[in-house]
Amino acid sequence: MTTLLIENAYLAPVAGPEIPHGYLRIDGDRITALGPMDRLPTLPHAERVDATGCLASPGLVNTHHHLYQWATQGLAQDATLFDWLVTLYPVWAAMDAEVVHGAALAGLAHLALSGCTTSSDHHYLFPHGRGDLLAAEIAAARDVGLRFHPARGSMDRGRSSGGLPPDDVVEPIDRILAATADAVDAHHDPSPSSMLRIAVAPCSPFSVSGELMTEAARLARDKGVRLHTHLAETLDEEEHCLAQFGVRPVAYMERLGWLGPDVWVAHAVHLSDGDIGRLAATGTGVAHCPSSNGRLGAGVARVADLLRGGANVGLGVDGSASSELTTMAGEMRQALLFQRAHSGPDALTARQALELATLGGARNLGREADLGTLEPGKLADVALWRVDGPFTAAVDDPVCALVLGPQPPLARLLVGGRTVVAGGELRTVPHDAAGRAGVAAHRRLLRLAAERR
Ligand SMILES: [Zn+2]
Repeated sequence: MTTLLIENAYLAPVAGPEIPHGYLRIDGDRITALGPMDRLPTLPHAERVDATGCLASPGLVNTHHHLYQWATQGLAQDATLFDWLVTLYPVWAAMDAEVVHGAALAGLAHLALSGCTTSSDHHYLFPHGRGDLLAAEIAAARDVGLRFHPARGSMDRGRSSGGLPPDDVVEPIDRILAATADAVDAHHDPSPSSMLRIAVAPCSPFSVSGELMTEAARLARDKGVRLHTHLAETLDEEEHCLAQFGVRPVAYMERLGWLGPDVWVAHAVHLSDGDIGRLAATGTGVAHCPSSNGRLGAGVARVADLLRGGANVGLGVDGSASSELTTMAGEMRQALLFQRAHSGPDALTARQALELATLGGARNLGREADLGTLEPGKLADVALWRVDGPFTAAVDDPVCALVLGPQPPLARLLVGGRTVVAGGELRTVPHDAAGRAGVAAHRRLLRLAAERR
């Protein structure tokens, strides 16, 4: 087993006190010790990383994404969520496995370069006969080297059944449930060091039937995997739920058995005090996606109120079609600025924002025993941020430099002790090729969509 010593870093473990001049010891894929440099163990055979001038934080955990959307960035730039979806559904209907693989490769590489070590993905469009889209994004994650939690999404409520999507992008419920069960059986690894876990994720209350929500929850609980969906993202959704189901979105999901410690929901922007109480009391997590909420004009989620109420909140970049090129590091800053712009300068601290992006994310994914903090026994998912550059060095507090400023250079990114990024460059896949794969996916999808029309 290899031993790695990261020396001379400013350690922000998220759990426990910060160590201004410290070391981190990694044996195999786990952190085994950390402390001040004057207690550095003598380990003549260890590999050493001099992290002078670097902040060491837990790797960031992204808890909401749609990687395929890398291929449709920059479209429907001024639309509400519902108009944006109606514009993009027919384009997405043309995607195939090649598009998904290229988009996922670029999207995951981009996340790695912004300090992300674990990402979920919510893939909910499976046009028939277009190849194994889930396998395509799993292959990309394996190549980039990130821990991956793809959620097998679905939609079964097309326009003819009162839903928002056109009928040709939804699937029949039997096929959805069978394919979701197959995805868990084929890919899910429940082990503590797992690089890949599957979640079950019908898309949203306005594109999924109550029957599918209920059956999906039953399937996930039978298989011991987590549940994910979009919830309370816009006022249009709230009106839709009140008109069609007679209750607000959170109450609707509770009725369907969808609140609980094995569930995390994306957005949760429009919540009443009662909704916040139900999310907190049931242990339902929230993936806060401030850039996407801003881009679509959806509103500002009540993150400070959720935290005060005892709910868990993590962050998500959301799909790139509603938050172009958004980075995980940038999302910490966006979350902080949104809360403060809305509720004042004490609404969210820099350290709370870092906790949302790390431990909050790990809790959303059910990985808090193994991820989200720098502690002995946890997986060695670590980001080293260079905060001694000619401009960043004028900020004395490294956590402030990371969260309040734009992203500092990423000196090193470790996933389970393995180097994924060094010196700001990908080390697992060719740096420029990952970006080019995303451009090719974009061009291919637009061409396929034009041919379908
Ligand atoms: Zn989303």
